[in-house]
Amino acid sequence: MNVPDLIRKKRDGQVLAPEEISGFITRYTRGEIPDYQCSALLMAIYFRGLSSQETADLTEAMMRSGQVLDLSEFPQPKIDKHSTGGVGDKTSLVVAPVAAAGGLLVPMISGRSLGHTGGTLDKLESIPGFNTRLSLPEFRRVLGACGMALIGQTDDLAPADKKLYALREVTASVESIPLIAASIMSKKLAEGIDGLVLDVKTGSGAFMKTLEEARELATRMVEIGTARGKRVQALLSEMSQPLGNAVGNALEVMECLETLKGRGPADLVEICRELTATMFVLGGVDSALPPACARFDALLASGRPLEKFAQLLAAQGGNPRVVEDYALFPTALYEDSFVAPEGGYVAGLEAGALGRACMAIGAGREKLDSRIDSAVGLVFEKKVGDPVEAGERLCVVYTNERAPLPRALEMIRGATTISPEPVSPRPRLLARIPE
Ligand code: URA
Repeated sequence: MNVPDLIRKKRDGQVLAPEEISGFITRYTRGEIPDYQCSALLMAIYFRGLSSQETADLTEAMMRSGQVLDLSEFPQPKIDKHSTGGVGDKTSLVVAPVAAAGGLLVPMISGRSLGHTGGTLDKLESIPGFNTRLSLPEFRRVLGACGMALIGQTDDLAPADKKLYALREVTASVESIPLIAASIMSKKLAEGIDGLVLDVKTGSGAFMKTLEEARELATRMVEIGTARGKRVQALLSEMSQPLGNAVGNALEVMECLETLKGRGPADLVEICRELTATMFVLGGVDSALPPACARFDALLASGRPLEKFAQLLAAQGGNPRVVEDYALFPTALYEDSFVAPEGGYVAGLEAGALGRACMAIGAGREKLDSRIDSAVGLVFEKKVGDPVEAGERLCVVYTNERAPLPRALEMIRGATTISPEPVSPRPRLLARIPE
């Protein structure tokens, strides 16, 4: 294969053959193709796109760049959940224990927070002792013991994605739907799953700003998974205000524990119910969504998912006593209030800007190697649609340093809209693909 010819072919809008794509990925992963040629191809793809077949071929090649797990020794249906990320998006920590308590095997490999969006691994690492860096044999051991395991990406699974993603970040080629679809699906398909529910977020706090873009990404990913014989459904969900009330790592884990105790915020419970119920249907535990939703509610009321979560903590080195004693989490030194500048109804809490306010106080990371402060973040006492009086507290701001506070408060103010007229929040669940 002549690499300049291949780049030229895509640059000129032609279709790449499966062997051209697989040859390129194999050689790039081995270090036989330099980053400058790969960057040129990525940019050509960014502008010219990839057909459905090319996207599937790219996914396959990236998946096969490392190990593909075989979890057939486990009797349960193997179903995972993936979210494209948002602000306050903590569903994994509720969905995984409920799904495992309901008889599914959940082999969940998650990511870190980046920019204004949060990441499951950072939330988990706010639990004292919790280890997200398990080897694959340890991952299997935890899966066998708990029916779920939550770890970070290893070097063995889809290594091509790790290399390509790092290059895309520094060459402005992340925002390409076929490249995102192949990146996500190559990692998920390498997990050895039978089925997958995708939570594709849309709105200011999401990767996909419009419903049309979210629909296109979801459709691509469902096509890729289905073509490989997996049961896949995507939910398109709303991310123009944060999900739940807490944004920030330890604060979000505490909110998940409250949710597992039956005291979660309504929007978080709703989306967790829809995602878990879809997993039950994909896994054949239920034949339709209504009984699967009822199963979610019954499991939550039984307290078994909370026990599962404590069992997972113990299996992955975390302190299971955090489940009952929140004082064991890292706590922030300072607690300030952001109050409503005027009375009326909360009309907007712009998630992207609020995520950036959290980054300013240390809850998120600008670069993959930036340090994160687990204790800091925001807890909202009002959400879109709620009435509010002038001077009433809208959210609590937890910080460990005074210097970034004025800027963060200014950013929260800029993200908040109050209307004199009553406002209805957008529904959280916008669509399902396939319907
Ligand atoms: N998340 C991924 O895993 N890959 C992308 O390309 C974008 C978001």
